[in-house]
Amino acid sequence: SVVTRFAPSPTGYLHVGGARTALFSWLLARHFGAKVEGGKFLLRIEDTDLARSTEQAATQLLEDLRWLGLHWDNAELVYQSKRQDIYNGIIEDLIAKNLAYKAYEKKEELDAERKEAEKAKRSFLYRRRPLTDAQVKTYESEGRPHVVRLAVPIKEYRFVDAVLEKEIVQAPHEVQDFVIRKADGMPTYHFAVVIDDQAMEVTHVLRGQEHLLNTFNHIALQEALGYPRPVYGHLPIIQNMDSSKMGKRDRDKKIRQRVGEVMKSTKRSAADIASAAALDATAFAEWLADSQKQLDISEQAAVMHVIGLKNSDLPEILVHDFRKNGYLPEALLNFLVLLGWSPGGDREKMTMAEMTELFSITGIGKSNAKFDRTKLLSFNTDACATATPDRLIAAFKDYLSVNPDSPLGAATDEQLAKLLEMKKGFRLLREVDEISRFFFVADDVLAYDTDAVEKNLKKNDGAGMAALRDIRGVLEGVMSWTAASCEGAVKGFCEQKGLGLGKVAQPIRVAVCGTTVSPPIFESLEFLGRERTLKRIDRCLA
Ligand code: GLU
Repeated sequence: SVVTRFAPSPTGYLHVGGARTALFSWLLARHFGAKVEGGKFLLRIEDTDLARSTEQAATQLLEDLRWLGLHWDNAELVYQSKRQDIYNGIIEDLIAKNLAYKAYEKKEELDAERKEAEKAKRSFLYRRRPLTDAQVKTYESEGRPHVVRLAVPIKEYRFVDAVLEKEIVQAPHEVQDFVIRKADGMPTYHFAVVIDDQAMEVTHVLRGQEHLLNTFNHIALQEALGYPRPVYGHLPIIQNMDSSKMGKRDRDKKIRQRVGEVMKSTKRSAADIASAAALDATAFAEWLADSQKQLDISEQAAVMHVIGLKNSDLPEILVHDFRKNGYLPEALLNFLVLLGWSPGGDREKMTMAEMTELFSITGIGKSNAKFDRTKLLSFNTDACATATPDRLIAAFKDYLSVNPDSPLGAATDEQLAKLLEMKKGFRLLREVDEISRFFFVADDVLAYDTDAVEKNLKKNDGAGMAALRDIRGVLEGVMSWTAASCEGAVKGFCEQKGLGLGKVAQPIRVAVCGTTVSPPIFESLEFLGRERTLKRIDRCLA
């Protein structure tokens, strides 16, 4: 049987790389689960980094996985922070057997050693440094903090990577006595991951290639504990189209860039911007100068607000970004599955059921995967065009639930269905939202785009305004208010006056929508209704 797991650290929202790992692990379990008893996909929250893990991030991770439809099979979620006693028991046991030991160096001391080694072009690997009992006593009485390290046997470590389909070898001396428990008493990632994969009876570990070399540590620990080894497969790196590694920092990069531009063009200082965003000036200046530093999601939002950067101006990286911008999860999943996996041939479009049927580890590629946003957008366009009306309405409502600032939140299902129908061929639900907002704004506060008013109503001695005045009378006479009857009336008027349709339709559009961009105009009039249409025209004429 096959047991896979997804083990995110709740230090931020789920990003697409993590989502891809979760998807592959889910598919592997479901592929077998559909055929044999006991294919399982488990979820574990790796929150041993107390300083960086948050409850809110954990909650959001679960929400994002649910949105994607990647449901997990353990009713009781595993939080590593709650398993400290179990880890400690095992660590004490390892110490008693001389397979692990306490080490008392402070971080600064090790950093200094590391620097020295670097200077001398030596590699720095920590090895057991026997201490006398007296030294240990002194350290303990000083209350010097300690970590626990694994006493790693010096030998060659090797494993066959199921994705790369080759043996990965680490020469003797390359795996150091790594830390298994930190000074704060929490286990390290290396330790907890091995204990929990064993406890959860995980058979297959799929994870990003950045973890490839970590596997040697995990093997050394498994050997010390006498654990069986799961199958390991490391997934291809996801790159931007320019071959840079796609990462969470891409958003910060863009914000940093824009802050620089704003400072230049408005002569505002960094301290100024920091204070407007209610951020610590020193920390903000450090972030600005150091591309390795990152803002958290609420700090990002505060800075973006100050410099006038919209969420949609940033590259989407988080699953939540895609949801908020109006992607359908099925399109995103279909796109993600192709980041490193192919069913063979040139087949691309698949449902989840088809992916599950076709998925296999051997179909996972070995080379880097490109995150092609144009392709994703076209997947989404197709998914929207082929979704059933019910599915599309459900997706639109979900989109609105994460976009509470949209006035479309007030729309009925029937209205949403009409709006989706009017804006046929859209790429993102956000487009339907944005183009439809004018319907849901009160008639007397609708904002007018000044350029559109100038060009379509005021220019040429107010020719547009005159046409609008005339057509108002015509529209008032339309008794049964439908798109077809409005169109008939307006066209009849144009013919009679010898005017092109645009000369009349555009002024109407500006008057009722506030801009020159709207769904088809006559359908829009029907949607808005007779009374509100006339009200808006009157407001323009007044
Ligand atoms: N918590 C680790 C991460 O988020 C899990 C890595 C693993 O799958 O072993 O990268």
